[in-house]
Amino acid sequence: MKKVVKFGGSSLASAEQFKKVGNIIRSDAERKFVVPSAPGKRNDKDTKVTDMLYGCYALADAGQDFHGELQAIRDRYQQIIDGLELPLSLEEEFAQIEKQFKEKAGSNYAASRGEYLNGIIMSAYLGFEFVDAADVIYFDENGEFDPDRTNDVLSARLAGCESAVIPGFYGSMPDGRIKTFSRGGSDITGSIVAKAIKADVYENWTDVSGVLVTDPHIIENPEPIDVITYRELRELAYMGFPVLHEDAIFPVRQMGIPINIRNTNAPGDSGTWIVGSTCQKSRFVITGIAGKKGFCAINIEKDKMNSEIGFGRKVLQAFEDSGISFEHVPSGIDTLTVFVHQDEFMHKEQKVVAAIHRMAEPESIEIESDLALVAVVGRGMKSTRGTAGRIFSALAHNNVNVKMIDQGSSELNIIIGVANEDFENAIRAIYDIFVIAQL
Ligand code: ASP
Repeated sequence: MKKVVKFGGSSLASAEQFKKVGNIIRSDAERKFVVPSAPGKRNDKDTKVTDMLYGCYALADAGQDFHGELQAIRDRYQQIIDGLELPLSLEEEFAQIEKQFKEKAGSNYAASRGEYLNGIIMSAYLGFEFVDAADVIYFDENGEFDPDRTNDVLSARLAGCESAVIPGFYGSMPDGRIKTFSRGGSDITGSIVAKAIKADVYENWTDVSGVLVTDPHIIENPEPIDVITYRELRELAYMGFPVLHEDAIFPVRQMGIPINIRNTNAPGDSGTWIVGSTCQKSRFVITGIAGKKGFCAINIEKDKMNSEIGFGRKVLQAFEDSGISFEHVPSGIDTLTVFVHQDEFMHKEQKVVAAIHRMAEPESIEIESDLALVAVVGRGMKSTRGTAGRIFSALAHNNVNVKMIDQGSSELNIIIGVANEDFENAIRAIYDIFVIAQL
C-alpha cells in the first residue's frame, strides 16, 4: 500500500502540531509521500503565513520597507524549528527571499514560500527527501495547470524516492517563474502526487473529523459523513462546502484513488472516505446540504416562447457576450429564468438586458435580486421515494418560500432557490427532517 498524506495549515501551525503530524506519519510505514501546507492559524486571532507573505510582498512591491513583516515570518518558522529542536537554519532561504522581494519576483513567488519553507522543515524533521514542487509541477504559458507534463516528470522523479516531502500549492511556468494554484491549492498538489505514484489512498489531514453533513456555522455540531462519492462532493464543493479545494478531486478521480479526510487532532477517528462509487448507503437518505447566497434571477417572458426555436440560445447568448456564466435556467411555457451570481451580473445588468431585448424580443424582463441557492445532495435520493416531498413540506412548515426548483438529471441533487434571508432557515429545516428526525 502506498499513501500520500497532505497536511493543512492548522496541522502545521506550530511545533506541537508538527509533532502530532510526525507521530501520524511514523505510526504507518505506508505514509511515505508528504505534502505540507504553509503554517496556518494557531488560534482565531492569528494570521496564516500565506497571508503574512502576501502582505509583506505588497509592501515590497510598493517600494516600502518590508523588513519588519519579513522578520515576523522568519520568527514563525524559527519557533517551529526551535520547538522541534532541529539543527536547521533558514538564513540562506530568507536571504534569497529578501533579494527576490526587492527584485519584485511577484506575489505568486511570495505566497509559495510558505509551503516551500515548511517543506524544508518537514523534510529535516522526518528525514525524508525534499522535492521542490517548482521542479515537478508545471503550468503552461497561459497559467493553466499542465497535467500531462507534470505527471510524466513527477512520477519519474518520485519513482526514485524511498520517501519524500513535496510542498503544496505551487509549481512553475515554462519560463521558470513560480505560479500558485488558487487559495487552498495544497489539496490539489496532494491529489496530483497521489496520481503520480498511483497511491492506494490520498489522506488529507485537517482539523475536523471528516466532511460534515452541513455548515457548522448554521447547524451546531452537524453529523459527519462516513462515505461520500466524488460526484456528491463535487456538487457540494461547488456550493461552497469548505472541506477540500474543488479541483483536488480531478487527478485522483481519474485513477479511482479514494480520499480519506482525517483529523490531525483526533487521529483515531476514521474520518470521511471520498470514493468513486460505493454500495454503502448514506446514513440519512441525503448525504449533504450546502448553499450560497448572492444570486439574481432574470425572469424573461414572451408569449409562446416554448414554440419559438432558438429563443433560449438568443437569451443565453446575451449573457455569454457579457462574459457572464449562468447557474440554472428553469423554464415555463412563456417564461425562462436565468440564475446568475449577483456580483458578476450587477455591473453589466443593463448591457445584458438591452442585448436580450435586441436579440430575443421578449415581452418583459424582470430582475429579482438577493436570492440564495440550497443544494440537497445524495446518491440515496434516486432510490428513495418522497425525498422531494419531504424537503418541500419541511420548507413550507418553516415558512420558507421556494422560488425555484431544479433537480439534476442524475437525481443526485435538488437545487432550491430561496430569498437570502430564508437561507439559514431552509438549511435548518432540511437538516432537521432528514438528520435530526432519524438519529
Ligand atoms: N497556504 C495556501 C493557502 O493558505 C495553500 C493551502 O494551504 O492549501 O491558501
